[in-house]
Amino acid sequence: MQAMMMNMPLRVIDILSHAAANHPGGEIVSVRCEGDIHRETYAQAFERTAQLAHALKGLGVDEGDRVATLAWNGYRHFELYYATAGMGAVCHTINPRLSAEQMLYIINHASDKVLCFDLTFVPLIEALSDHLPDGMKLVAMTDRAHMPESALDLLCYEDLLADHPQSYDWPILDEDSAVGLCYTSGTTGNPKGALYSQRSTVLHALFVTVSVPRSLHEGSRILPVVPMFHVNSWGLPYAAPLIGASLIMPGAKLDGASLHDLMQTEQVNAAWGVPTVWMGLRAEIDARGAKPSALDQMVVGGSAAARELIAYFEGHDVDVCHAWGMTELSPVGTHGQLPSTMNDLSDDEKLDMKALQGRRIFGVDLKISDEEGASLPHDGKAIGELHVRGNTVISGYFNNPEASDAAFDAEGWFATGDVASISADGFLSIQDRAKDLIKSGGEWISSIDLENMAMAHPKVANCAVIAIPHPKWDERPIIVVVPNDPQDPPSLGDLHGLMSEHVAKWQLPDAMELIEDLPLTATGKVSKLTLRQKFDGYVLPDAH
Ligand code: AMP
Repeated sequence: MQAMMMNMPLRVIDILSHAAANHPGGEIVSVRCEGDIHRETYAQAFERTAQLAHALKGLGVDEGDRVATLAWNGYRHFELYYATAGMGAVCHTINPRLSAEQMLYIINHASDKVLCFDLTFVPLIEALSDHLPDGMKLVAMTDRAHMPESALDLLCYEDLLADHPQSYDWPILDEDSAVGLCYTSGTTGNPKGALYSQRSTVLHALFVTVSVPRSLHEGSRILPVVPMFHVNSWGLPYAAPLIGASLIMPGAKLDGASLHDLMQTEQVNAAWGVPTVWMGLRAEIDARGAKPSALDQMVVGGSAAARELIAYFEGHDVDVCHAWGMTELSPVGTHGQLPSTMNDLSDDEKLDMKALQGRRIFGVDLKISDEEGASLPHDGKAIGELHVRGNTVISGYFNNPEASDAAFDAEGWFATGDVASISADGFLSIQDRAKDLIKSGGEWISSIDLENMAMAHPKVANCAVIAIPHPKWDERPIIVVVPNDPQDPPSLGDLHGLMSEHVAKWQLPDAMELIEDLPLTATGKVSKLTLRQKFDGYVLPDAH
């Protein structure tokens, strides 16, 4: 029997129009590249978003066109999210930490029409300029007074907005149309694009908001350290205005001292980011002898948060919510808020629970399966590859049928490449990573790519790149080499020479170790597990 309900397409722009009308106290506070602090309410942001949409239209941006950003967390980046979404275009956030080669690949793969960038990235744009798509418009996200000297034909963001009306006739869009594009590193080769829809983005904002109410409530002040170029800042630019929380945008200054200052002066209640940034904040709290006074909750994810890091912040009266997610999931999959049935646990027992990766948010289903694809029980013991499905999970990669085919199991679940167990009460515990990737400071390094590059060296007979735990960066790569001639092995510098053409400097291995033979699995593949065990306790040459 057909229900009798209205059916209006879910649109991202409705989040901002709602915030503008209903959350008058909500604001965006931004540390600007220009050096000062900027403030605007959601109502002002909504008006400027309309002006920006007119300006983008004037640059020739139509529905479905991709507008790229190379930018930190700030109000202009936020306006770009909403102007593109509102007019039916797609915001393609580029991770500036990628190598130039990968950046150019994704800009061309996405066929970006416009590239908007913060002043920090002018030298980068100049270096890339010869290889950018023909006719691409370049917009410097600043005002006339701060326009950089450049041989390139740069447009000025504030000039573009200036004379346009502060309202826009936002079109009714298909809720399945694309709104955001974010590339993530593959185990090998070029990054793969996750293309979010109006619908998935609105649903994700709702799902996250109901899952993490301690951060996301009206009047809260949230600092997203996680960049807007990293899976949309885990959805905060959508979830915060939806519920009437303010966004405190840190710009380019992500060190412990700058974050501590900003959290203190802006009375930040909640901050979200990867473990590496919380190590920096922790050192600053130790140095100053005090946490930022209003800080009540930290959401940590992107890599496993160590129990001891969680204990430190909990010891400073900061609730730590350990979450797990992926670019392919918009990205939040689980949250670490403990249920009230656990209120009576001891502090130690609570910490044990918080060190796990939490329970699924509403809308994301989890299953673990064995190598044959059979589902395993959620008993806290069985370990298998984690699979997910739901309305906020990708159904394929953007214009990449090959990667898409490999990413789903026979029942259509997305294979995460994470190896996990799930307890009877729903707690996820990530045990390992099946995918051959290393995560350093929240960013990916492909071990296979580094190995392929090293193999091109005449002195290398075989090699493997593995992750070594690192106190600050979480993981750093080292390369284990079987030399052709043990008397005349390659040097680490030789290998760096081959790799640095293709990868960013921070992606190069920190050390090289020589080995007679690489350990193999039963199927004849290099056993990374055995290698990691062999190098357990390995001390890296110098902590970065
Ligand atoms: P990304 O797509 O860059 O957000 O990376 C997603 C991947 O990061 C996951 O598949 C995991 O391998 C890893 N990851 C994210 N959050 C956690 C966590 N809390 N604990 C362990 N690994 C995590």
